[in-house]
Amino acid sequence: MPRLLLVEDEPAIADTLVYVLENECHVVSHAMTGMDALAMQSAAAHDLAILDVGLPDMTGFDLCRKLREKWPIPVLFLTARGGELDRVLGLEIGGDDYVTKPFSPREVAARVKAILRRTGAGAVSLPEVVAGALVVDDVEKRIRCGAERIDLTAHEYRMAAVLISRPGRVFTREQLLEHAWDDPGAVTDRTVDTHVKSLRAKLREACAGAEEMIVTRRGLGYSYSPQGE
Ligand code: CA
Repeated sequence: MPRLLLVEDEPAIADTLVYVLENECHVVSHAMTGMDALAMQSAAAHDLAILDVGLPDMTGFDLCRKLREKWPIPVLFLTARGGELDRVLGLEIGGDDYVTKPFSPREVAARVKAILRRTGAGAVSLPEVVAGALVVDDVEKRIRCGAERIDLTAHEYRMAAVLISRPGRVFTREQLLEHAWDDPGAVTDRTVDTHVKSLRAKLREACAGAEEMIVTRRGLGYSYSPQGE
């Protein structure tokens, strides 16, 4: 699944985009500020960045430049009309495409697909996600701690892969069931808790401290935090 970095400080716009893009089978990390976006990209690289031009701590143009200093990431700008648009069109910035506000989320999804197709990033998912001490090896379908493979059941692997690939994001039990079970209706929320328990036990065995990276968010669900809580 292609991984997108969405940087947009208006929650209503961001929520709609996340919803539509996730429905299109993208994995979306959402940041409200440029600094958060840079941290997220350092933690796990993305295939494409969608950058609002007007961010609270820097412009989307500055963020684009900072990202590109380290990563060859394609960029789609979300711009207001006027001066912002002129600069994008002047191609001073080197974005791959842009949409102007107000836009339809479908339009954004279509542009994302086109860019991924063009850049080839959507054609193959990255073979590995490295987040903190743990590595998701999507080719072998294994979680590793450094070079050491951790022996997980299929459900434990799928659940761990979902959590580790999106550090910091909270998943509800329902969402984990959706991602990791073929027939989520046949099992209950308790099943998730049981599997998290066995996952933590195996992590503890293979990788000291890693079990604490699977964080319980009371009343919400679970998240993966490479720094522990
Ligand atoms: Ca904005």
